[in-house]
Amino acid sequence: MIQSIKKNKYTICQLEKLVDYIGLLQTREILSAWAGHKVARIALTDAKINNSINILSSIGLHIEVKKSKIFLKKDIGKGGWSNKFLEGENLNPDLGEWLLYVSNNQKKSYNSMKADENEDETSLGEDLGIPNCCIDFYDRNREKAFQKQNDFVPLVLENTKGDGPYNFWNNYVSQYFGYSLLSFFPCSFNCKNAANFAQNTYELLNAYLPFHAKKTIHFQKQNLIYTEYKGIHMYENSKFIKSKKTINLSNTTFHSTLKPNALSLNNYLEAKDIFIINKNSLKITYKDKSSKFFDSPNISNCIFN
Ligand SMILES: [Zn+2]
Repeated sequence: MIQSIKKNKYTICQLEKLVDYIGLLQTREILSAWAGHKVARIALTDAKINNSINILSSIGLHIEVKKSKIFLKKDIGKGGWSNKFLEGENLNPDLGEWLLYVSNNQKKSYNSMKADENEDETSLGEDLGIPNCCIDFYDRNREKAFQKQNDFVPLVLENTKGDGPYNFWNNYVSQYFGYSLLSFFPCSFNCKNAANFAQNTYELLNAYLPFHAKKTIHFQKQNLIYTEYKGIHMYENSKFIKSKKTINLSNTTFHSTLKPNALSLNNYLEAKDIFIINKNSLKITYKDKSSKFFDSPNISNCIFN
């Protein structure tokens, strides 16, 4: 696959190969940059950077690379995802990733890189296409998020009115399973501006990668139980019954970011149905008819269906 990318001149119609090479989420970012919707910021390893720059240049994109590498700190229980950076002097320079700023305009790429270097979050956020309400929300909550693993899911849910289901266009929690239309934290799961951005991204993705676009929407419509340290759990094809405040799990496929031998996995895997008490509490009934209550600020019930 990599060989075929190297051999041929790359065109925007060969995006499928880029999905295999740098993943769907980063390819979605590249497509948005190519369409002029935003500057894309993507992270690449030593092994992929040169080849990727050739591919992106051949489809007419302009790339700036940040001077120093970033080192990501893996979150606990989130299947290898990172929301924080590692800092310190003893980091192995062979590891780490380069940050690329990619757009259809050289000046825009350069300005975004500079804004990031200068920690000008507002200017960078605007370049990355983030709505102002969501930039403000991010700014107000940075310190709070940093106290844990720097994940904004609990804060976004707290700022979302009502019991759900919430607007599935804003379900970026499904990114933990490889699918999402948003590259930023919406200020709430019902934010209209973020939902608009997601819809535009969907239309673009559907024009070039229709199979992936449909799959992404499918996963954004699923219910998830997010926990800060004990995994994120998705019940594919489950249905929230609002009048009963219950997620019906018949005919559901279970997905989790936890490893198959993780101790807390069975709490979620063996569930028969889930009664939603509030955003941070739930009662799970099991196949053997026993039940357990869970109540913690580290739990977020993310209802989208
Ligand atoms: Zn917003």
